[in-house]
Amino acid sequence: MLIKEFISETNKNKMIADLLKYHKVQNVKVKMKSMKDFAHYDVDRGVLELSTKYSKIKNSQIKEFLITMLHEIYHAMDAKKYGWKKFKEMYELEMNYQIGMGKDEYKDNVYEIDAEKFGQSNYRKWYQKFKKEELF
Ligand SMILES: [Zn+2]
Repeated sequence: MLIKEFISETNKNKMIADLLKYHKVQNVKVKMKSMKDFAHYDVDRGVLELSTKYSKIKNSQIKEFLITMLHEIYHAMDAKKYGWKKFKEMYELEMNYQIGMGKDEYKDNVYEIDAEKFGQSNYRKWYQKFKKEELF
C-alpha cells in the first residue's frame, strides 16, 4: 500500500515535471498548497500553486488533472511571454472590461477561455503518452 502510493506520487511529479518542461515554464515559481483544485496559477503573484491534497491520483481523475495542469500552464506561458507583472495588468484589465460589459469576469475572460481551450484540446495526447509510459 505504502509503496504503491509512493510510486503514484513519483509518477504524478514526473507528469508535472514533463508538462512544465515541454511548455518551457519549468522555471515558473511553484508553491505547494492544500486546495481542492489540482493546480492554480496565481496571476497576482506569478506563482503556480500545486495541491498537496492529491498524493495519489485516481485513474478517474487523470483527465481532470491533465486539463487543469494544461490550463494553469497556459497562464504560466502567458505570464512568461508578457512578463508576469504585465500579464497581471492585462488580466485585470480584461476582468474589468468583462464586468463593464455586464459579463462574468472569469467565465467570459479571454485568458480563461484560451487556457481552457488549450487544456481541452491538448490533454488527450498527454493522456496517451503518460499511459504508454505506464505512469498511471
Ligand atoms: Zn484559469
